[in-house]
Amino acid sequence: MGIIVHKYGGTSVGDIEKIKNVARRLIDTQKKRHDVVCVVSAMAGETDRLIKLANDLTDSPDAREYDVLVATGEQVSIALLAMAIISLGGKARSFTGHQVKILTDESFSKAKIMSIDTKRILKEVKDGYIVVVAGFQGVDEDGNVTTLGRGGSDTSAVALAAALNADQCDIYTDVDGVYTADPNICPKAKKLKKISYEEMLEMASLGAKVLQTRSVEIAKKFNVPIHVRSSFSEEEGTMVTREDEEMEKYVVSGVTYNRNESKLTISGIPDVPGVAAKIFKPIADANIVVDMIIQNASSAGHADLTFTVSKTDTKKALEILKAIGKKLGANRVSSDENIAKISIVGVGMKSHAGVASQFFSVLAHEGINIMMISTSEIKISCVVEEKYTELAVRILHDTFHLSPEER
Ligand code: ADP
Ligand code: ASP
Ligand code: MG
Repeated sequence: MGIIVHKYGGTSVGDIEKIKNVARRLIDTQKKRHDVVCVVSAMAGETDRLIKLANDLTDSPDAREYDVLVATGEQVSIALLAMAIISLGGKARSFTGHQVKILTDESFSKAKIMSIDTKRILKEVKDGYIVVVAGFQGVDEDGNVTTLGRGGSDTSAVALAAALNADQCDIYTDVDGVYTADPNICPKAKKLKKISYEEMLEMASLGAKVLQTRSVEIAKKFNVPIHVRSSFSEEEGTMVTREDEEMEKYVVSGVTYNRNESKLTISGIPDVPGVAAKIFKPIADANIVVDMIIQNASSAGHADLTFTVSKTDTKKALEILKAIGKKLGANRVSSDENIAKISIVGVGMKSHAGVASQFFSVLAHEGINIMMISTSEIKISCVVEEKYTELAVRILHDTFHLSPEER
């Protein structure tokens, strides 16, 4: 009898009726002779509510206490779900990340899982319990509560599936699979039957929040098949698996957007070796992840440097940049939060010419100005004004023939 890991996101456990619905599903799955381990997120809106409380209290919440606070949302849902299973006649036990011992590094609010102790979980499933584990959270070596970044319950689930050598990891959510674009902003988006780890990795890291990027990295590394599906229907969803030949048939598999980044610019810096290193070292030391970077010559001997960071890091990055700006004699340091990164992803791009030029021409045709560009073998991204997000996603979706009737 193999282990199955289920994961239910915030909307799937958004109220008591929905929690009961999840409880029924888990009991049914167990009846089909499976050992069941279930990871849950906080109830819809709860993590946002907790974050707001911290931000209302102070401009810079203490990192350790922030994680103690935001991890509480998941403790509520595991207890309610276990109670629901028991009230329906099943056997269930809930565990926090600390109780399981999901060991992470010590980077509060973006911790990485180092190892998972499976002893207790295996004992409980052997005794016939449905094990309910709090997603999004772990504990570091000093016993501090840590969290894994927004959307981190996906990562908890996949890491547990890998550690338990589970047959499958089912991610239950509020859409019935992975689509060619976010179905909530692109009405013509089509559900994919399957998608390769590589493409899913790009789509997730470029903003398709249906799976947290880190969860796909772990799935790829440990070869865990992920089934993304709806918690409100029985329909088959999308399998995230290894690449196969059929997948290469399509040049572009999906369009994504990310409105969670902001752009910072430092202008008039000396155009000499070592300057970029001087700028990015303190940014890295502050644990700020930089995404896109462009540099261009402004006037003789001087350059401008623009880069993007997560919106949550804007303030911190701006302070650091201002301090460096003074030292380097920069003309100006500025930030812009009204941006969106729009990307197309597809393994087929490796062998097709002209995709980038088509991408740029359709945006130009709509009068959308491109502020930054970055490409890899299987993706093209550009930064545009945030107000153009929906328009850009839809026209790119049409241009690359991703609509149901066209595929
Ligand atoms: P959960 O709370 O279950 O983890 P999330 O809100 O984190 O759910 O992720 C599901 C959401 O991801 C969907 O409601 C959808 O708006 C969004 N999404 C973005 N891009 C895609 C895509 N390509 N396919 C499916 N959903 C997507
Ligand atoms: N509750 C956390 C969040 O809202 C984790 C998750 O939902 O996966 O980000
Ligand atoms: Mg999520």
